[in-house]
Amino acid sequence: MISSIENPFAAIVYLDRELHILELTHLANQLLEPKDQTSLKGRRLDECINGCDAKKWQDLLQKSIVTGKTFELRLKTSQQKNIHLRFFASQTKLDGQTNPNGILLFFVKVEPPPQVALQLELQMMEIALDRKSYELKLFRDLLAQIKRIQNYDEVIYILMKFICESFLLGHGFFVKVFTDSSLRAHVSSTFSLKESPNLEGLRQKVCSLTENPPQYLLATSKYWREEIPDVFHQLFKIEGKELTGVLHLPIKFGDELLGVLQLGHYAPHHGLTPEDIEFIGLLLQQIDPFIESAKLFEMSMIDDLTQVFNKRYFKLTAEREFQKTKKNPDHKMSLILLDIDHFKKVNDTYGHIAGDRALKALGEILTGSARSHDFVCRYGGEEFAILLMEPVEIAQLLTERIMKNLHNTEIELGPGIQYKMTASFGLSSIDQSVASLEDWIEKTDRALYESKKTGRNKFTIASTLK
Ligand code: GH3
Ligand code: MG
Ligand code: MG
Repeated sequence: MISSIENPFAAIVYLDRELHILELTHLANQLLEPKDQTSLKGRRLDECINGCDAKKWQDLLQKSIVTGKTFELRLKTSQQKNIHLRFFASQTKLDGQTNPNGILLFFVKVEPPPQVALQLELQMMEIALDRKSYELKLFRDLLAQIKRIQNYDEVIYILMKFICESFLLGHGFFVKVFTDSSLRAHVSSTFSLKESPNLEGLRQKVCSLTENPPQYLLATSKYWREEIPDVFHQLFKIEGKELTGVLHLPIKFGDELLGVLQLGHYAPHHGLTPEDIEFIGLLLQQIDPFIESAKLFEMSMIDDLTQVFNKRYFKLTAEREFQKTKKNPDHKMSLILLDIDHFKKVNDTYGHIAGDRALKALGEILTGSARSHDFVCRYGGEEFAILLMEPVEIAQLLTERIMKNLHNTEIELGPGIQYKMTASFGLSSIDQSVASLEDWIEKTDRALYESKKTGRNKFTIASTLK
């Protein structure tokens, strides 16, 4: 392209929020002395510009990219020598990369003659067309990846991975925001493009948003690092390293903020062009309905009060796993049913709202005690079910852990009202003698009833019943 334009020389600079002159082509020899070339190379462009503020020349640059018009700049070498040059700019793809991530500056001595200007315009259009077709391809690829996915967390993860890979961003995080009374946020999933600092532990980090309520995050649809609330900086500091060049994308469900997708890097990076950012915003708008339907699907499977899976989800999952176990005797599966002891008394004494608080706390204790791949479900009013793809011995260990955690937790039912909950448990694992899922649940329920009958606050394993 350079040779076809017959311009005296060109320099390639990368957009890194700042522009750096990374390379001067051999054509530069015709215009600049070798020592001037050396003194310009590698420097930030705005440091070399004389008598023109950064905002103004960036506007000129942008205008030139859009219109193909040339503009004049006075460059200053490190020996304070002034060089007057005319430029025109175009966005470019660099070797081996598919998306535009740099700016090609053509230095021209004079305005190009009309036929050259026309040629340039055509090339500019070609570049713009290339970009558009690349964007279209990205749209298609992303839609193909997410259109059949119903799991909301998975949709978010795919989106995060996709943007990171397409725009060569090192890291992506999804920060779930809790807009209930707690106003907290935590990192719910992470993605790394390449070798990364140790991300272990990030998921456990929780930050409070009371200083920066989520409305703050809704103010703009995207912004750079400087505008991110301080709490988020703390969240992403790893081994002393700060996340830089962060793109902050709010994920919403209607007006509700579900979380913030943060994309950035711990290492130096060429950054994103304004065009990239605009496109990512557009991409997000396009997949909004998919996020929404995945969220709706999730909501239909999650119990509103306790935030564990509901009975419908339990039935679907239990049936699916039950069939697997029937086909493959090596596939292990256990069930824990639990029912709170004397829960009616809590409602009668402190009221229904206090009772709800206790149920919510139990949901947290169960989720906290189980591992992420166990299925904790609310089976009925104050009855819960946990499905494990494990033998009954493991279910017993989990039950003992839950009982211990219940014993160690004072649940606050209201101002100054502490409540220690106990529950009774029934456990069973599946074996060839179990004819149907209903039989299995009933058998486990009998074990639970046995625990109630024989004193409560204990567990019974179904296979020990006569
Ligand atoms: P047991 O030890 O025999 O299980 O005694 P219990 O009092 O827990 O048993 P019972 O089945 O008699 O009472 C269960 C109570 O759970 C009755 C109901 O008011 C309460 N409950 C069920 N669902 C909810 C709910 O969503 N919120 C509140 N606050 N209470 C609930
Ligand atoms: Mg009950
Ligand atoms: Mg009960």
